[in-house]
Amino acid sequence: MMEEDMKAILYTKEEVAARIQAMGEQLTRDYQGELPMVVGVLRGSFIFMADLVRCIQTPLELDFVAASSYGSWAVSTGKVEMRLDLEKEIMGRHVLLVEDILDTGRTLSKLVEELKKRHPASLKLCVLLDKPDRRVTEIEADYVGFTVPDEFVVGCGLDFNQKYRQLPYIGILKPSVYE
Ligand code: 5GP
Ligand code: MG
Repeated sequence: MMEEDMKAILYTKEEVAARIQAMGEQLTRDYQGELPMVVGVLRGSFIFMADLVRCIQTPLELDFVAASSYGSWAVSTGKVEMRLDLEKEIMGRHVLLVEDILDTGRTLSKLVEELKKRHPASLKLCVLLDKPDRRVTEIEADYVGFTVPDEFVVGCGLDFNQKYRQLPYIGILKPSVYE
């Protein structure tokens, strides 16, 4: 069972759902009448994004990007590349970039840099998790689900070697699983 690979459960399914509901209510107010372009960063954001947009009551459009970073999570090389681009132009649009976790900040810094070149009306960041202890770039999210300690977490879209994404809770993976 996957639960046996967890050192601890940080946030239960119910806690995650309640937090995402509150974020959706906030976003509903903040983007009232603006038809935002909600952009998910594949693959980690897909579950959070699906849950989040169903809690946003104002019209929006969706798109996706993918980024690849070289090196492992533990030994990041810092090189990030956009691997899948948006389908539509975002000039003059209100863009909300949605990601699973803001860790070192390299991925989102690179994506923000790319998207800003296209002159969106606004560009905001929304992450399910924020792990500020590992930040190496100057970037903060505008919307944060939970701030987490410097541990390797999985579930709600976050993986280890593509596994554990489907867990409905946020768990800390036992180091013995990845060491
Ligand atoms: P950053 O570029 O901010 O260092 O991190 C970006 C990516 O690293 C995230 O999108 C995620 O894929 C991965 N990552 C960072 N921390 C964790 C973690 O604790 N658990 C998992 N599963 N992935 C992480
Ligand atoms: Mg990711």
